[in-house]
Amino acid sequence: MIKSLHKRESDLANSKRQLEILSNGIFQKGALPTFKEKISETNQFPLKAKKLEILQINVGYMCNQVCTHCHVDAGPDRKEIMTRSTMQQCLDIIKTTGAHTLDLTGGAPEMNPDFRWFVEEASKVGIKDFIVRSNLTIITANKKYHDLPEFFKKHNVHVVSSMPHWTRGKTDKQRGNGVFDASIKALKMLNDVGYGKPESSLRLDLVYNPSGAFLPSNQKSMEKDFKKALLEEFNIHFHNLFAITNLPISRFLDYLIASENYEDYMYALVDAFNPTAVSNVMCTNTLSISWDGFLYDCDFNQMLELPVNSKAKHVSEFNETLLNGRDIVISQHCYGCTAGAGSSCQGSVI
Ligand code: SF4
Ligand code: SF4
Repeated sequence: MIKSLHKRESDLANSKRQLEILSNGIFQKGALPTFKEKISETNQFPLKAKKLEILQINVGYMCNQVCTHCHVDAGPDRKEIMTRSTMQQCLDIIKTTGAHTLDLTGGAPEMNPDFRWFVEEASKVGIKDFIVRSNLTIITANKKYHDLPEFFKKHNVHVVSSMPHWTRGKTDKQRGNGVFDASIKALKMLNDVGYGKPESSLRLDLVYNPSGAFLPSNQKSMEKDFKKALLEEFNIHFHNLFAITNLPISRFLDYLIASENYEDYMYALVDAFNPTAVSNVMCTNTLSISWDGFLYDCDFNQMLELPVNSKAKHVSEFNETLLNGRDIVISQHCYGCTAGAGSSCQGSVI
């Protein structure tokens, strides 16, 4: 098993170091335009937040896996965990916000000791789409998690799970040995309680992200291939596939540098820049809350410790009017959201 950048005491565990890399080299020399320069060409700078629609809450960086591409640098050694009192502050704003989607993420959010309490309380608010991002393997990791499919069903949770490929080799390479088999087992457990079936209202979506330094191909055609393979080989059903581009931060940045692919990858992202995707990037309708209650434009900015450009910086200061219309904080990692068909936590943006 690989270790988190924090555990390895890597330079890249420091977000400032990541931002330096993203601002220097090819961008400093002018070989490639900065993201700000690029979006200015189409008069899209500054990028502005519109109406808040999605509240994404990161309840902690602890995870049972240590995937090579992880932008959170999550792992069993990460101790950052949202407390119940911060969860309570989040609940207070969920009740008042106009957001239609609540999206719980991590790490493995289920590892937070107050996760079930939070889901129970949040589900009472009646938010339209209540997402939990589950890595699947947590469901089989320990007896205490085996009933998660039933728990999710009881609270009408929309399950979104990573599944980088329908083959064991590609999945295990990115996510660790044994992940594929555990994920298949967990998907069957979710299907058994009704998740992912064609006519079922229990939503089960999968997330694909490339296993190397390349961009995802067409989301719809990949979804077709995934559906065919998972159904024929394992009798597994799911609803949609979200194709997500790996952003050059954290462990994926470490991988790019170690494999000497960093510059080529940045060239590929800039080459694939799509100005149409800019107006739909997820930070324009999303707010990300960290385990300690601070506000960010997205989960990526959270990991780079780039707080929102607003007077309201913490969930305790939440003010939707103030936050709508704020300038989004950008850097070169944002090219990952605007390449090709664009990329967000809900997959392509166009
Ligand atoms: S990518 Fe997801 S499952 Fe993998 S280490 Fe990161 S948080 Fe955990
Ligand atoms: S990385 Fe975050 S801030 Fe940058 S474009 Fe993507 S969603 Fe927006």
